[in-house]
Amino acid sequence: MNNTTLTTSALVELDKQHFTHPWTVFDVYQQQGALPIAEAKGCYITDSNGKRYLDAVGGLWCTNIGLGRTEMADAIAEQCRQMAFANPFVDMTNIPATQLAAKLAELAPGDLNHTIFTCGGSTAVDSSYRLIQYYQNCRGKHDKKHIISRNNSYHGSTYLSMSIGGKAGDHPVEFDFISDFIHHISCPNFYRAAAGMSEAEYLQQLLDELEQKILTIGPDKVAAFYAEPIFGAGGVIVPPAGYHQATWAICKKYDVLYVSDEVVTSFGRLGHWFASWDVFGIKPDIITTAKGITSGYQPLGACIYSDRIHQVISEPGHGRCFAHGFTYSGHPVACAAALKNIEIIEREQLLQRVLDIGPYFQQQMKTLQDLPIVGQVRGQQLMVCVENVRDKVSKSLFDEELDIGKRIADHAEDLGLIVRPIVHLNVMSPPLTITKDEVDFIVRTLRQAIERTINDLQQQGHLPTPAQQKTA
Ligand code: PLP
Repeated sequence: MNNTTLTTSALVELDKQHFTHPWTVFDVYQQQGALPIAEAKGCYITDSNGKRYLDAVGGLWCTNIGLGRTEMADAIAEQCRQMAFANPFVDMTNIPATQLAAKLAELAPGDLNHTIFTCGGSTAVDSSYRLIQYYQNCRGKHDKKHIISRNNSYHGSTYLSMSIGGKAGDHPVEFDFISDFIHHISCPNFYRAAAGMSEAEYLQQLLDELEQKILTIGPDKVAAFYAEPIFGAGGVIVPPAGYHQATWAICKKYDVLYVSDEVVTSFGRLGHWFASWDVFGIKPDIITTAKGITSGYQPLGACIYSDRIHQVISEPGHGRCFAHGFTYSGHPVACAAALKNIEIIEREQLLQRVLDIGPYFQQQMKTLQDLPIVGQVRGQQLMVCVENVRDKVSKSLFDEELDIGKRIADHAEDLGLIVRPIVHLNVMSPPLTITKDEVDFIVRTLRQAIERTINDLQQQGHLPTPAQQKTA
């Protein structure tokens, strides 16, 4: 079947019949279908009817160098021609995978010199936990297997990684989750802290909670703390200053491994290869990454871990076998794409570019806070979230059925801008190549989309009209 022969409506129908999309709300999807994307170049995507959009989401936090680069296509094609696959198990390797593992050791902080390659972020998180179990058993600490993670975090959608995640909306009753060894503590969101609390008091409360949780479970039972440096899908929540270093110190105190899930925050999104050390001053024991590692040109993930862990698991004389990995671990084509991606980021100095344009993006986005339903605009560098609220003083939310984020995203889409709705939020993470003019377009268009949404809500009686406000 040639997709160029299909009309858009036929394509949408076929899609409805056969493609079960991630996070499909079946009823809505049956009515609306999906938007077929046919082409992509830089920050722009074009649908099958030829309409062009600025994709401020960067695919799904991933198109860091921008799409449609011939140089990337050539590198991928060349690797396919030369050697599209080599068995990664023990007795064989391949040149791009070796080179990439060495490059990651150079770019990652501290003594994170070893990489387990995976097919994406979820499997990187799964692999990190298998590594942790193995490490603890090698040390004879057979009970030290519990995980602490945070409410509202997202770590992937395999059984384990979704159970580590703490987003209530991702834990519907129809699914089952691991609960016997995974524990969740509060999300460090100062915007939602109790009224009247200072940021310092709030931080102390969060730190006490983590320490208390470790003590309650028992330090001899807690293996690892999982944390995204900045929450991604949870709504771009930047924890209070000092949170990362203090939680890291608590972990070290109790021999708890710190896993920094940098699937979103690495490869330039915050202006550095990795955010853990360069932005937040911590050297985790394990970093998980994916997405921006290839800028979305190929599926790839990595679990990068420390010399300390490696020395324990590979200690000579035990005949140990790390029986974990995938057919596609270190896939040569994906690794060749990652190497080319890193080369482009270095050559075009895209990390510095983010440090230059990021503050402008944040500052311009914050101008939306004058809108009556924008409770907070937050973020750092090229990660941003607009939190929409019914009432800015009480910070109360709209009813979930109103799907406020989706309404705004739909208006933006009509106006040629893609922003991601997550219930009452709209999040953005544009390619690192975004220009000032494109930032201005995003802010101007999103303002218009929010104004249209407010107007709809007023017409439908969900918000008072200006006339009603006057007489009230
Ligand atoms: N970890 C974090 C922080 C993520 O944001 C994501 C995906 O958005 C994942 C893990 C899962 O990655 P993937 O979808 O590639 O499996």
